[in-house]
Amino acid sequence: MHVRFWGVRGSIPVSGKAYTRFGGDSACLEVRGSRGSVILDAGTGLRGLGNALSAGEPQPIHLLLTHFHWDHILGLLFFKPLYDDRFRIAIHGPLPAEETEATLAALMRQPYFPVPFASVQARLSFAHLREAETVAGFNVEAIPLSHPSPGQGYAIEDESGRLVFLTDNELDGEPALDRYAAFAQNASLLVHDAEYTGSEYALRKGWGHSSQERALELALRAGARRLALYHHNQDRTDAEVLAMERQCREKAALAAPDLDCFAAAQGMEVEF
Ligand SMILES: [Zn+2]
Ligand SMILES: [Zn+2]
Repeated sequence: MHVRFWGVRGSIPVSGKAYTRFGGDSACLEVRGSRGSVILDAGTGLRGLGNALSAGEPQPIHLLLTHFHWDHILGLLFFKPLYDDRFRIAIHGPLPAEETEATLAALMRQPYFPVPFASVQARLSFAHLREAETVAGFNVEAIPLSHPSPGQGYAIEDESGRLVFLTDNELDGEPALDRYAAFAQNASLLVHDAEYTGSEYALRKGWGHSSQERALELALRAGARRLALYHHNQDRTDAEVLAMERQCREKAALAAPDLDCFAAAQGMEVEF
């Protein structure tokens, strides 16, 4: 499995000298396997991925959405394959198909956007992704997120391993940490929300995000091989993200020397 981070930022895209190392685009991952590929979330990172896809031979596109906050869908508006009749795009999400379609169609409406939904050229389909399904040759499982908007996280598995993608997820809410630990059991790569430091989280309980300490706790409990800290706060500079990564590595080195803990960066690729 080949995983590429096209966007790692949470809440709103950012730019500037303070963000060159980890990048400013919001949530989007590309996952390629031996039988196909899926895209996780459609934040502004999706724009770059769309440019790359439309430059190559058209492949069927499967987009899995965690939820509908702006930072997870806005890239769709500038996703080149959407305006290209050579592409088939299946959009899978946590809501019934017609609700997903209506929600995304509402994005492409005056006065918010000049191009109407009716002018989309790609062949679009919508699906409600339930607990366990096969998508693009992967076994895909879903679990509810602990977040103010209804959503779900995903496990993507094939013969090479298991990727677990849990962003916009609070680990002190409901479902409980134990259930997430079972879901992420032996993950080859766990990508988890690490929006806050421990002291920030104390002031923002119930906002639907986690501290890096809790993300590490989940990775340890699940016996994950790699932990990617994800959904970096919009104000977190490169130096601050590096400090969080260093702290996570120091704790991981004591508790589980085999666990590779790192802060996800835009453009980073992981293979297993
Ligand atoms: Zn988010
Ligand atoms: Zn959210």
